[in-house]
Formats: sequence, C-alpha cells, structure tokens
Amino acid sequence: MKIKTYLLTFGLIASSIISTYFVTVSTAQQGTQSQTVATADNEYQVGAILFMQKAAEFRALCYQAFNLAQMNLDADFDRKNVKKLPKAERKMTRAVVVDIDETVLDNSPHQADLIKKRLPFTPTIWTDWVNRRMAKPIPGAVEFLKYASSKGVRVFYVSNRNESEKQGTIDNLKAVGFPDVSGETVLVRTSESGKEARRQIISAKYRIVLLMGDNLNDLSNVFERKSVDDRFAEVDKTREMFGRKFIVLPNAMYGDWESAIYEYRRLNEVEKTAKRANTLESY
Ligand SMILES: [Mg+2]
Repeated sequence: MKIKTYLLTFGLIASSIISTYFVTVSTAQQGTQSQTVATADNEYQVGAILFMQKAAEFRALCYQAFNLAQMNLDADFDRKNVKKLPKAERKMTRAVVVDIDETVLDNSPHQADLIKKRLPFTPTIWTDWVNRRMAKPIPGAVEFLKYASSKGVRVFYVSNRNESEKQGTIDNLKAVGFPDVSGETVLVRTSESGKEARRQIISAKYRIVLLMGDNLNDLSNVFERKSVDDRFAEVDKTREMFGRKFIVLPNAMYGDWESAIYEYRRLNEVEKTAKRANTLESY
C-alpha cells in the first residue's frame, strides 16, 4: 500500500515537473513590464467546476441556503424575537451582509477558462473577467436579496475584489438584478483582506441579521489564517451559528480551505501538487 502511495505521489510530482517544464505559454503585457505566465496543474479542479456548473445538487444547495436565509429573516421580524434584543439594537435598521464571489455571483466560467488554457490564477486575468461584467447570479441569490430589500433590510456586498474592479462589480450586480447596489453598499478590499473592519463599519449603523459567504472568513475573523485542524476546531466551537446567523454557500473550486492545505504559503505548482497528494487521507 505504501509503495502505491509513493508511486502515486511520484507520478503526480513527475507530471507536474513535466508540465511546469513547458512553461512560458503566453506573455501578458502589464504596463511596460511583461509578465511570464506559467502553465498550471489545475486539472484537479475540473470536478469542482463541473459540480458547480452541471450538478442540480449544487443548485439545490444554493436554494437551500437562501431559503434558510429567508426563514431566518422572517423569524427576525417576529416581535417576540425583537423583544429579546438589547434595547439599543431594537430600533436599528436590519442588514444582510453577503460576500460576492461564489456567494452571489458565479465565476465558474473564469475558472473553466483557466483550466482550458492551463493557466494559474493571476490578478490581470481576474480583473479582465470582472471588467467583462459577465458573471451570472448564484441560484436564489437575487430573489432572496430582493425579498430582504423589500422588507426594508439593507444589503451590503463585502468583497475582496479591489478598488479598480469596483465599477465593473457594481455594473455586473445591477445588470443581473441585485437590489441596493451602490458605492455605499459594495465594500471592496482596501488595505487588508480581512473583512472584520468592514463588518464593524456596517454594524455601527445597522443590526446585522445574517452573514452569507462561501468562505468562513466572510462570517467571522476567528477562522482567518488558521490551519486545517484549527478551522475544524473553530467551526465546532461556532456550530450553533450555522444555519442561523451564518449561512455558507458551497465552493469546492477554491478558498481558504485550500490555502490552509498549503499552509498559506506561496508554493509553486509542483509543491502544491505534492501537498495535495500528501494531504489526502486514505485507509
Ligand atoms: Mg467568495
């Protein structure tokens, strides 16, 4: 069995070395600097992308998340629940905070394009995709947020897209029908990727009823930069929050769950492939 594992690991490493050897696929112009884009070993993402694009189960999970969100929001309007709140919060306007990518917008065509071209994620290619304003909504997202907005709930879109992508993002969100989209409600990344400061800006004025995201960091800072095991431990500690104030959308394509496997280090393609192979639990 061990020999089999070694052979599998060796095979994966060898194939990565070969694929990385045939580097320098395209040269992207970035200002006056030219940037060499290497080939990526991203074949392993095919299943995750097909699940998002072709599995009716994925669609059902999204509906499940937004139905649950709506049930919780309705319950929040119940007078009995309002009375349980601290006095200062009772009259505050409600807010729903959502992440954007893979929470309300579907970027799987961008991911699929990278796989077809064997390209790694790069900020340049990503910004190009964002500025095309082509992303479709995640199933159920527009309907739920419109419902929330119709009830007087403010919607905040807290994303780690950057400032130069803000207008494209606003245009895309508006074009597919999201409510309450403006420079005020779309909070992009500023100096830090952590979202806590932005959540605090919102909660200074509004009562956050729900937080929705495909990444645990969209919900709380307790998960940030934690190891795989510590992420499990934090989820266990906060388990009562899930399906209540915290609602998670499925994303097997990418996320901090994967960065945690790489221990948040900048690994090359060969190292990443080896890390993935060595992390798999068998029996
Ligand atoms: Mg996201």
